[in-house]
Amino acid sequence: MKTELALHERTLSLHRYPKRNNETLQAWDAGDEYLINHVEAMNLDTPKHIVILNDNFGALSCWFSHQHRITMMSDSYIAHQAAKANLALNDGPEITLVTTMDPIPHDADLVLMQLPKNNRHLVWQLSQLHSGLKASVPIIAVNKAKEIHSSTLKLFEKHLGETKTSLAWKKHRLVFSYATHEQPTPVSADTRWQVDNENIELNNLPNVYSGESLDLGARFMLQHLPQSPHLQHVLDLGCGNGVLSVKLGKLNPQIKITCVDESFMAVESARQNLKSNLGDERDITCIANNCLDGMVAQDIDLIVCNPPFHQQQAITDHIAWQMFCDAKQILTSGGQLLVIGNRHLGYDGKLARLFGKSKIKVAASNNKFVILQATK
Ligand code: SAM
Repeated sequence: MKTELALHERTLSLHRYPKRNNETLQAWDAGDEYLINHVEAMNLDTPKHIVILNDNFGALSCWFSHQHRITMMSDSYIAHQAAKANLALNDGPEITLVTTMDPIPHDADLVLMQLPKNNRHLVWQLSQLHSGLKASVPIIAVNKAKEIHSSTLKLFEKHLGETKTSLAWKKHRLVFSYATHEQPTPVSADTRWQVDNENIELNNLPNVYSGESLDLGARFMLQHLPQSPHLQHVLDLGCGNGVLSVKLGKLNPQIKITCVDESFMAVESARQNLKSNLGDERDITCIANNCLDGMVAQDIDLIVCNPPFHQQQAITDHIAWQMFCDAKQILTSGGQLLVIGNRHLGYDGKLARLFGKSKIKVAASNNKFVILQATK
């Protein structure tokens, strides 16, 4: 697997985050290379303020920080950590790292953007760009050509203004736009809905997983969450909008709740949803982290987890594995990890390796999902 990005007589060393010995995936893609080649051909003569959205592992930020001032905007805690690590590795200068909930810097000279996976996040970012940028600032986005549909370009035209595309290069295409639309449609950051058969209302910021409806796995898990006066401190690992901990908090009024997710918008949504559904008096902490990196606690007796099975575009089970390892580490002795997954994902084997086969039991199952309970 390549870790050296060599272009225009410069070479950067780039790694995904967290760095793994047996990594098979590169930290940049042909879309990053296409953007770099395009901007280098623009021959920008003086240092500019470049705003970079959704830089996956910091390749674009590292590249352009060499000559320009960079603000990197990403909803991903992991992308922030990757950019910091890659900048340090390449002796790069400091850049400004913000989330996609922050305002677009009004003094940007150029915007570069990897298109986000989720259309609601894209619409949010386009509307933010429109309200933050002068109409003369070029916006150049990139994605795999097969992911740029005519509907994607219509979103650019609706929320920004005039939009064109490039020819495809290594299966990627650039999208060129300016914030010129005179009457763009207003976009709200919030999507609110009621959970069926539950007295729970959820607000979902634009990049929250399953933000338009409840995840099917979460729906099944809601029916099997424990109620016990002995529970003290529950951790929701990969919390998304926090639906599992909202229900746990309702079932167990005495518990302390910690929610962790790598999406800043998920963490903020969970914080809002716990507060609005459980009230201001509860002991609640919501944190952005990569799994449970660096966390210590003495009293966590239940962890609930509906693990992700991809990182950016790549399907992977390494995050689920790290979540299980971290969960085992932080649980009190006798504490339990409740994991939901599609039947075919084989989480039972992983949990048995970690906790011991006799400590794993099937808490519930249906034709699609299994809920596994691992006891430390
Ligand atoms: N708990 C929610 C539910 O059941 O609807 C969301 C579950 S969703 C399948 C998995 C969540 O894990 C996503 O919100 C994702 O952002 C988060 N996630 C992905 N990688 C992570 C990581 N390395 N550390 C923490 N959270 C992560």
